[in-house]
Amino acid sequence: MIKIYVDLDHNIPRYVCTSCSSCDSLIGKSFCKVKNRGCCWYFPKFTLIDIQRMTKTPEGLQTLNRIISSPHTQIYNYFIHAKGFFDESEYKKYIDGNMLPEVDYLEDYTIFFRSCPFVESGKGCTLPPRHRTFVCNFFLCKEISEIAESHKLFQIYKEESIRYSRWIDWENENLRHFFSQKKLTLQSNFQEVIEELKELELSQYEFPCFEPIILDESWYRGS
Ligand code: SF4
Ligand code: SF4
Repeated sequence: MIKIYVDLDHNIPRYVCTSCSSCDSLIGKSFCKVKNRGCCWYFPKFTLIDIQRMTKTPEGLQTLNRIISSPHTQIYNYFIHAKGFFDESEYKKYIDGNMLPEVDYLEDYTIFFRSCPFVESGKGCTLPPRHRTFVCNFFLCKEISEIAESHKLFQIYKEESIRYSRWIDWENENLRHFFSQKKLTLQSNFQEVIEELKELELSQYEFPCFEPIILDESWYRGS
């Protein structure tokens, strides 16, 4: 049985899929040293609202410190990019040996050789859900989406995640505008931006608590 459901961590929503803990999807395969990491080959980009949420608690500030201390993290004007591990020599070996699987919907095959700095093999993400990015909290791979597609609730789940991502974009745009007016950037004035974010009121989004999507054996049989 596969279950997809909404989880709220300190009012921060995410979609949880029970299949992820034993990921069998193509894009979850790893040809690098970090095995069993699902699709956590992603290098997360923490936006201003993600950072603002972290500034509100001591535990969030510890998470932020962990992110900026990660060796390949880059701080840009209005976001932080936490880059992780990439096994370039293994990637080249697979390319030269023509050993990569053929996937019609994939353009970037480096995903099989990458790993997020915050994932632990077989354990998953070590950041609390409330401090993960939108992509981390809402991504569902093609295999899972295709299985769930014809369930009556899945369209509602998809529409709500799009609505929420637009709200996040809007909030980020407002924060970016606020800091550009003040001529402050994360890159040049990191601590000042953090202090401002601590003081600014945090906007909230009331994410609906949908019923879970249950894909059990009867679902696979199509009955
Ligand atoms: S979303 Fe898909 S690829 Fe990612 S961990 Fe879950 S099952 Fe694996
Ligand atoms: S931050 Fe967590 S959920 Fe996001 S890619 Fe990294 S390990 Fe995965």
